[in-house]
Amino acid sequence: MTAAPAIAARLLRVTGVVQGVGFRPFVYRLAVRHALAGWVRNVAGTVEIHVEGGAEELEAFQQELRTEVPPVARIDVVELAAAVPAGAHDFRIIASADADGIRPVTPDLAICKECEAELFDPENRRFRHPFITCTNCGPRYTVIRSLPYDRERTSMAAFPLCARCEVEYNTSADRRHHAETVACPDCGPRVWLEREDGIALSEGDAAIRDAAAELRIGRIIAIRGIGGFHLACDATDDIAVRRLRERKRRDAKPFAVMVRTLDDARALGAVSAQEAHLLTGPERPVLLVERAAGSCLAPAVSPGLDRVGVMLAYAPLHHLLLEAVGRPLVMTSGNLSEEPIAIGNTEARMRLHNIADLFLLHDREILSRIDDSVARVVDGAPLLLRRARGYAPLALRLPVASPQPILAVGPHLKNTFTLVRGDAAHVSPHIGDLDTIESLEHFHATVERYEDLFRIAPTVAVRDLHPGYLSTRVAEELGLSRTIAVQHHHAHIAAVAAEHGITTPVVGLAFDGTGLGDDGHVWGAETMVADLNGYRRAAQLRYVPLPGGDLAAREPWRVALGYLSLEPGVADAFALAFRDIGADCLITAERQIERRLNAPLASSMGRLFDAASAVLGLRQRASYEGQAAMELESLAGAQPAEPLTFPVRETGDTFVLDPIPLLAALGEQRQRGVDAGLLAARFHESVVRATADVAINVADRAGIDIAALGGGSFQNARLFAGIRRRLEARGLRVLVPRQLGPNDGAISFGQAAIAASLLARWD
Ligand SMILES: [Zn+2]
Ligand SMILES: [Zn+2]
Ligand SMILES: [Zn+2]
Repeated sequence: MTAAPAIAARLLRVTGVVQGVGFRPFVYRLAVRHALAGWVRNVAGTVEIHVEGGAEELEAFQQELRTEVPPVARIDVVELAAAVPAGAHDFRIIASADADGIRPVTPDLAICKECEAELFDPENRRFRHPFITCTNCGPRYTVIRSLPYDRERTSMAAFPLCARCEVEYNTSADRRHHAETVACPDCGPRVWLEREDGIALSEGDAAIRDAAAELRIGRIIAIRGIGGFHLACDATDDIAVRRLRERKRRDAKPFAVMVRTLDDARALGAVSAQEAHLLTGPERPVLLVERAAGSCLAPAVSPGLDRVGVMLAYAPLHHLLLEAVGRPLVMTSGNLSEEPIAIGNTEARMRLHNIADLFLLHDREILSRIDDSVARVVDGAPLLLRRARGYAPLALRLPVASPQPILAVGPHLKNTFTLVRGDAAHVSPHIGDLDTIESLEHFHATVERYEDLFRIAPTVAVRDLHPGYLSTRVAEELGLSRTIAVQHHHAHIAAVAAEHGITTPVVGLAFDGTGLGDDGHVWGAETMVADLNGYRRAAQLRYVPLPGGDLAAREPWRVALGYLSLEPGVADAFALAFRDIGADCLITAERQIERRLNAPLASSMGRLFDAASAVLGLRQRASYEGQAAMELESLAGAQPAEPLTFPVRETGDTFVLDPIPLLAALGEQRQRGVDAGLLAARFHESVVRATADVAINVADRAGIDIAALGGGSFQNARLFAGIRRRLEARGLRVLVPRQLGPNDGAISFGQAAIAASLLARWD
């Protein structure tokens, strides 16, 4: 008997971002390099590897699996087991196996450098092919019909591979080996340009060039992209941009701008090294950067703001179009005002024909609707303002696993939902405001899609405390065995704590516009001692009546009037707030306050910013919620300023901050001619100091050394950085939102974290 070489075998199961990112070809190359035999396959959301060969080679393979992982992949866990050698002669990528388990679906990835180079290489056979992709780039979530991720289960199944693509797909050394979205001009999807009345004008490359020519003369074009339609126009043409605003019924809310290269982005705004990293990453969010003085952008792109939202082209189609246009393009979501974006050709023709002059269409079906993500760099780190394409549907981990599957339906505005099994929290992409039939349909369709993709059938629903929200009705109508209601600001704090894996009590600062408090009033400037199981409200703003209720979020003068009703003596200082308001409006609002009719009491940071803007004479009416606050932040810039007086009272075990002396001082100084920018800076400093000092006091008394910041007001960089630094200077560890944004997009995750923790305790 001759001695056979010592053969050992291993079975590895890899969890993380490992499907749709070229992971199997990577494993293949690694195994071949170490002369190992065996196979690799996708099993549900994981990758299973069987390798056999020499012990040393196996060791090296296991090590390099972690150290040489492709840039867009991420390994969370490698489970390792000994296996019996199967006598394999070579290494293969074999067909996927279906099974239960956590099923990560990869986000859509921006075009990679290699594909971009090929796109513009006349010698390459995919020269100017608008659907070029490889294992490292291209659509994923938006083309996946079901798992495991294989071409036959994507919308690319409609495009059978031509012989040449098939060879690349099957050649292990090729960078398109097992690229499920591979295509070429011979076999891939096609693109065409259509008139608003449905008549096709041109197709292929001619369609892209024609579209570019039309954009250059001021036309608005609906463009089918990765996660839905954009509405595009020349971002340097003020008339075109204003026409788009009119047709889209969007007065002033800033538009995102798309450019082709980092240098193009630098011509529009100041881009730091960190911002450049974010702009060019595979997620390609819209990034808010400081607008460059004298840039070519039309003023109507982001009126009244010192920042502009810029993103780099992420689909090959965008690259071709932008190259042909030679100017930055407004690329705003293809919808009317707050409705969800259109994804289908027929749907777009119906919904966008009053907005777009032309349609640039393609025939690759979009199976999941998803918006562009929005981010900004604050205090040296990225802050997500809208988590969607590029990020969703990656799962987050909960610190306490749920004994039962959960659907947390999220809030009313900026809605997302979270689907939970065990400790995996699948946070949906941004859905939007749940107040139209269309957005509600979008919500239901996405829930269904998530339940299907991740194979989760929830038995517990989680909703906001507010009985009137559509999301609340949705939760009740699910008819699940149990429904848990969670207070809005508790959810904000829980989201941040849970993201950092913290389950012990923290001092949470939840600052935003509105959320129903457990006393029936409007909350939004809350400091709480909270953990995942409960909270105690420790500080708030003095309650102010908001005449007109929700209307006050759009009409800052109403908030000023509310404060004035509490201290009529400061009328002179508040005069600028009512300069342009008609007498009958004022009388009606005063009556609402007197009779407590449609004048809810509020402790709201968002409304305080509105009131400050009003008494400074800056804005009496806003065209979108948060406009006054964003303008105040822009106006304040980074200029240093001394705080004004912002007194704090103690009632019972709660601190109450009274902003009336602060508002009066602002109004009075402004009327004396003090610069509005300096006063905006003083206002920010006053809020930073007062709220941080109260939080420090609360932390001291409770013996807690961790703080958490959450809520939409922390999208304000000056507030965020100011409060954080002041708390850290006093030795507190400060948790800030990273994987999710500070705003209401994080609420469903917070709801899920609280519910999971409660269920685990009750179990
Ligand atoms: Zn690529
Ligand atoms: Zn082909
Ligand atoms: Zn909120």
